[in-house]
Amino acid sequence: MTIRTRIAPSPTGDPHVGTAYVALFNMVFARSQGGQFLLRIEDTDQARSTPESEKAILDALSWLGLDWDEGPDVGGNKGPYCQSERSEIYRKYAEELIEKGYAFRCFCTPQRLDELRATQMQEKQPLGYDGHCENLSEQEIAKRLEANEPYVVRMKVPREGQCQFNDMLRGEISIDWAQVDMQILLKADGMPTYHLANVVDDHLMEISHVIRGEEWINSAPKHILLYQYFGWEQPIFCHLPLLRNVDKSKLSKRKNPTSILYYQRMGYLSEALLNYLGRMGWSMPDEREKFTLAEMLEEFDIQRVSLGGPVFDIEKLSWLNGMWIREELTDDQLADRLQQWALNRDTLKAFLPFAKQRMETLSDIAPLGSYLVSGMLPITAEDLQKTGFEQDQLIEVLQFSLWRLEAIQQWQRDNIFEALKSIADALDIKLKPFLAPLFIAIAGSSSSISVMDSMALLGADMSRARLRYAIDLLGGVGKKKLKKMEKAYQQLS
Ligand code: GLU
Repeated sequence: MTIRTRIAPSPTGDPHVGTAYVALFNMVFARSQGGQFLLRIEDTDQARSTPESEKAILDALSWLGLDWDEGPDVGGNKGPYCQSERSEIYRKYAEELIEKGYAFRCFCTPQRLDELRATQMQEKQPLGYDGHCENLSEQEIAKRLEANEPYVVRMKVPREGQCQFNDMLRGEISIDWAQVDMQILLKADGMPTYHLANVVDDHLMEISHVIRGEEWINSAPKHILLYQYFGWEQPIFCHLPLLRNVDKSKLSKRKNPTSILYYQRMGYLSEALLNYLGRMGWSMPDEREKFTLAEMLEEFDIQRVSLGGPVFDIEKLSWLNGMWIREELTDDQLADRLQQWALNRDTLKAFLPFAKQRMETLSDIAPLGSYLVSGMLPITAEDLQKTGFEQDQLIEVLQFSLWRLEAIQQWQRDNIFEALKSIADALDIKLKPFLAPLFIAIAGSSSSISVMDSMALLGADMSRARLRYAIDLLGGVGKKKLKKMEKAYQQLS
């Protein structure tokens, strides 16, 4: 059997370190056994998928040194590798399941489904579809189709017994069928859901091993059932442990930057980050911490993955990165890296139009621009408090701004300005005082160039990370307070 694995990111946000971690293990698993690794874009959620996110994911994975034998950018003979270009294929397979009696058209209105859910919640029953349309007569279906009633296609799921399957790392897993919903396979707009598209593609692309995060374990029964319905051989499943914050909660951007672009901007070496991701739940036979991708390939054995949630600890990553800088790069190579990273003409030229106005000597550039190439700034809670806000409002200004900035799709000065102005207006604070704490958080002082321009130059990831850092300096926001703030934020106009 040829081993074929894949990474199947959904392009709905920043390139996530978790995606790189799963991609790395898929790639190493396949290549260490002479197999192939491919990349497929799962963009069936048309409302949330963007071409910018797709590009950022491909760029970030390539920057890390990962590459794929087939994919949307490199081609291959099992393409297209973007699901949005494959809708006809999924429609055909959904029809096949209806014909074989394994799926059915469901005409239930959103109102009925809402009511069903409310009743199930009230009566503390398991949530899920109740099979209302499972046995409609041929005539009934024909009549409704004739009347152009919108429908979705759902898969039939046994109501009794258990789904049992084997996971490469976890052994036998059993899940009650009663817990598995009659999943929608095709939406009313004719687009597939993740489950149908994922199974059809894994089959057509001849994936032998599905290696993915453990959050997908509960979806496996649906997938296994689909393989059986189609009469296809199912791949071998392997659910990797999720990355965790230092406090063991699921890795989240509220506690830890999760975007690969942040780590790039912060000045981590791609080799060190990849090395660190390789340490997530896995170790070299001799337990050494620093190793290259080639060394990992040589020694890889998936059975060495341990399931106790691997902690993504920035301090540990920084320590490893320092070793890479000191031990693996000559001064010449380090100079090259620094230039590639940010100490280059492009960075300088982007800043000069602003800096020029304030320069008398060339050496003025260092104090003026150092914050643009720094990581977190040497600021204190006091610096932020000096802007005159009460503590609560100070946090509110920073947190609301952060949320609004997280929603920006195109990171450009005007969009940043609009985002901040809208929060200032909604809080009824004049723009100048409103921006004062943002100046400190972003540039370290209120005398820098406009904070919107600074953010545009710094990029989304570093800007957001600095705002989060400022909030943490002020003591952070507890769970309870966060809930309250979220509510207040939603009520802003
Ligand atoms: N598109 C899914 C994701 O974003 C892929 C899950 C899988 O590997 O099956 O993680």
